[in-house]
This record gives sequence, structure tokens and C-alpha cells, in this order.
Amino acid sequence: MDVPIRLPSLFLSHGSPMLAVQDSPAGRFLDTLGRELPWPKAIVVASAHFASETPLVGGAAQPRTVHDFGGFPPALYELRYPAPGSPDLAEAIAKHLAEAGLPARVREDHGLDHGVWVPLRRMYPQPDIPVVPLSVMPHGDAAQHVAIGRALAPLRDEGVLVIGSGGFVHNLGELDWSHADAPIAPWADEFAQWMRAKLEANDVDALIDWHARAPHARRAHPTVEHLMPLFVALGAGGAMANVRTLHRSYEFGSLALDAFAFD
Ligand code: ZN
Repeated sequence: MDVPIRLPSLFLSHGSPMLAVQDSPAGRFLDTLGRELPWPKAIVVASAHFASETPLVGGAAQPRTVHDFGGFPPALYELRYPAPGSPDLAEAIAKHLAEAGLPARVREDHGLDHGVWVPLRRMYPQPDIPVVPLSVMPHGDAAQHVAIGRALAPLRDEGVLVIGSGGFVHNLGELDWSHADAPIAPWADEFAQWMRAKLEANDVDALIDWHARAPHARRAHPTVEHLMPLFVALGAGGAMANVRTLHRSYEFGSLALDAFAFD
């Protein structure tokens, strides 16, 4: 068997569920991303669409595909991503979290929400890599999610790809749904530029205080669940992580689709 190569951790913006089927810069980025990374033996995805009060880990052996969105074309509801799960990895993740003082529970029958399967279906069209979903805590803060990521960092040495799947700027009420290529809203760009600068400087102290320090933080994230996966990925990158920007684009005026690698 090959010796696993250390994998980066990733933050991906999953955008609209239409990312699953539409041609777009963010979609084309994901189409090539899987091939550019060392091949993972398993994937754990902390998703904005798996919310809980304390960490939950999906432990299904065959997780179902969940279509947790409404009002999209019927074809989107036909899509499946029948990747296997990994009950053993789910247990190992819960153990890593517990050892870090973060009590976690395994939820046996949890499926894959669209924050998990939409990007993975583009990155790895063959659904043969085991996938374990991990929750985020919308009532938690950035520091807690960095701690979750830190607890998962050792898995990267075992061939596990740690992904946080959310949104870099995510305010659905502000989107110009009629124009995918609408001009970029200045407030969204100011927020994104502040976050990018702090990420590129690996300024974790500033980042975990984003809600107080970043311009337009509340407007960029009226609720925080789409940003928390970034902090999981940041934490999983380790204290001295090299932060790489993998992708940058906007849709609908303010939906920032930035992606980063931490290694
Ligand atoms: Zn989402």
C-alpha cells in the first residue's frame, strides 16, 4: 500500500446548488481541483448545511444524498452522490474531538447535504472515496471551529482530506438572482478583501475576531454558518499553515466563491 501523502485542508465556497450542473468559473475550478491534489483515502466535510449545538459526525456506512434546497429545476433533485461513508473514520473523528475537549457524537444515519455532495461531485465524479460529514455550530464562534479543525489536523497525515464547505460572502437577501454576473457589491468586496488579507498573513487572532473587526461583517454573514467551515479548514491547516488562494469569483453581485488551501 502507498504511504499516504500529507494532504492540505481546503475551504470551498459551494455557492448555489446550481453549481452541481452549471458551467461557471467556480464549477470549472472544482472540475480540476480533485486531479491536482494527492488522492485522498477518505474525505471529511464540515458543511454549513449540517448545523448542531455540539459537534456531530455522520457515521452512515452508505450515506444518502440529501436535496436540502427548494425551488430549483427537477433535474437537480435527480442527482445522487452514492459515495460510501466510513463509520470507523467517524468514530476516529469523534475521538480526536473528545481528546481536544470537544465532546462530539456520531449520528449513524446522517446523509450528505448539498454543501457536501455538490462540490465533491465535481471534484471526484466517481463516488468511490469514503465521505464523512461533520457539523458546524451556528451558535458557536470562530475560535471553537478553529479548535475543531486543529483536532482534525493529524488526519491529514493519514490520507484524509479535510474540507470546510461554506461561503466566503453569503447573504441570500442581498443577491441579484437575475444576474449571475451582476457588478460586485462594494460592501461584499471590502469584507472579502479584509478576510483575504488576514488569511494570506495567517493572522488567526484577527480572523477569529472577524465579527468585530471585518468591515460589513454582519451584512456579509447575517448568520454565520457559511463562514464557520472556513475556520475548521484554517484550524486543520495547523498553526504555521501556508495559506494558498485557489479560486476567486463572484456570482449574483455579492456571493463570493473564494477557495483556499492550508498546508
Ligand atoms: Zn450553502
